Amino acid sequence: MKQTILLCGAAAAVGLTFAGCHSPVSREIRALGVQSEASERSCTLRRNGNFITIYPGSLRANFNGGWVHLVEPAQRTEGKSGVYSLSEANLKKVVAPLLNREVAPAKPVKMILIDPGHGGSETGATGAKHQEKTLNFALAQKIRDELVKRGFTVKMTRDTDKDVSLDARGNLSGTLKADLFISVHHNAAANRTGTGVETFAMTPDGCRSTGGGAVPKQATLSNRYDGANLNLAQEIQSRLVKATGGPDRGVKFARFRVLVKAHCPAVLVEAGFITTPKEELAIADPARQRKVAAAVADGVEAFNRRTAAMKK
Ligand SMILES: [Zn+2]
Repeated sequence: MKQTILLCGAAAAVGLTFAGCHSPVSREIRALGVQSEASERSCTLRRNGNFITIYPGSLRANFNGGWVHLVEPAQRTEGKSGVYSLSEANLKKVVAPLLNREVAPAKPVKMILIDPGHGGSETGATGAKHQEKTLNFALAQKIRDELVKRGFTVKMTRDTDKDVSLDARGNLSGTLKADLFISVHHNAAANRTGTGVETFAMTPDGCRSTGGGAVPKQATLSNRYDGANLNLAQEIQSRLVKATGGPDRGVKFARFRVLVKAHCPAVLVEAGFITTPKEELAIADPARQRKVAAAVADGVEAFNRRTAAMKK
């Protein structure tokens, strides 16, 4: 049964009001100590200096100034101004993990597996001058170098231009006992006008991906890290946007095969569009690649501070 929570603008001063106060979900949001404010156009939830703003009818939500995606569009209750409903899935899988900065059961980060997307016969997308596999590898090397400089141990799923299966990439994170997995890609769009950066986390268990599609009955291995996946993606995405100037396409959810088998918190970064002529030039520029690499490393360090804090 779908449970809903009503967030009432009038009740903002005292917290939240709920439909079905007996539900475990309402206990959860009370336990969060969330404050809310709502208007006709949006509803904002705040906790511990973090905020998320939801908009009726929209999958996009704003977390601390950057875009993330809900797993279902937010809704405003018909005929009641300032009253919003938040599904259990949105609350448990997006709103609470972000406001709580959940990273459990992730461990402090020592070993990171970087995955340069595609390779060998798999070229990935192609631009006017470059193949995606080559740009992915150039950027992945810079991310590796930046993380090594900061004291992490880093391995790559491929050190040369060769074919590696998607399952083998994810499985390697288990073999190496990696603490994080970062897959590096560049984007493509048929209309050659796509622009901006986006970071994907594995779609949470039982939820719909941002691009739609079926919801599998079985959770995947990487669903153990739903909260950590989302927070890692958000930490990286917010810094990618600053480093590149955007546009911010947001944190998104997808059941990418390469993420399904990850044995640790995992994300897939799309660091710009190879099919858009101006952006292809930018992403091939070593100076921009270094900036993006530093942004990814900053995101990893921010995530790692949270796992360290959790240990105490
Ligand atoms: Zn790709």
